[in-house]
Amino acid sequence: MYFIEDNYRHIREKIAQACKRGGRIPDEVNVIAVTKYVSMETTQKALDAGIVHIGESRAQDALPKWEALGDRGTWHFIGHLQTNKVGAIIGKYSYVHSLDRLSLARELDRKGNQSGIITRCMVQVNISGEETKHGLAPDQVQEFLREIEAYQNIEIAGLMTMAPYVEDPEETRWIFRALRELRDDFRKQGFANAPMHHLSMGMSNDYEIAVEEGATFIRIGTALVGNERE
Ligand SMILES: *Cc1c(COP(=O)(O)O)cnc(C)c1O
Repeated sequence: MYFIEDNYRHIREKIAQACKRGGRIPDEVNVIAVTKYVSMETTQKALDAGIVHIGESRAQDALPKWEALGDRGTWHFIGHLQTNKVGAIIGKYSYVHSLDRLSLARELDRKGNQSGIITRCMVQVNISGEETKHGLAPDQVQEFLREIEAYQNIEIAGLMTMAPYVEDPEETRWIFRALRELRDDFRKQGFANAPMHHLSMGMSNDYEIAVEEGATFIRIGTALVGNERE
């Protein structure tokens, strides 16, 4: 089963081409293998292929994988995070990509403070405005950042968004561009706990456009490790 290596090579080539088009350096683009639809064995193969970033969206389902493979990679929590699940993920996941409310920020900070852990977070922004998507509206983010600025056990590493699935990913370019502009703006404002280096955007169908527009983390499931539930 070498398909993950082939997929990864193909994706890295596409990233290199997108970087050329966007005037970027491929090393700035980190690929997260989203393993929520695949087994422990396939997750292990992704790590064997040299992928270091692993993304999961359900704390409970992913726990056995983390227990077996946790020290081999950097783990990213990418799904909606219930406040009462913070204890189950803190210290295991280096990044939470779905920070979208004050109660969650407070709990991540509180639990982090108890155990001396700083969790890196992306604030999830609902750029597209779809009702089914989680995330803050773009015009709510600034106030949110101000409210959580004193929290020392979370670091706001950047912003995250999800674009709707469309046939022609070119249609989603404006979403990725808007997230980048928002990030640049907040980075300039210099919130104490918010270095804002990162843009978590782009999935299997639209990552090339996201890379052209500045993505530093792309979250790829199907196109990289497949979907064993189909
Ligand atoms: C499942 C998921 C992905 C990966 O989706 P693919 O289309 O399979 O690449 C990326 N980001 C989030 C937040 C997800 O839930």
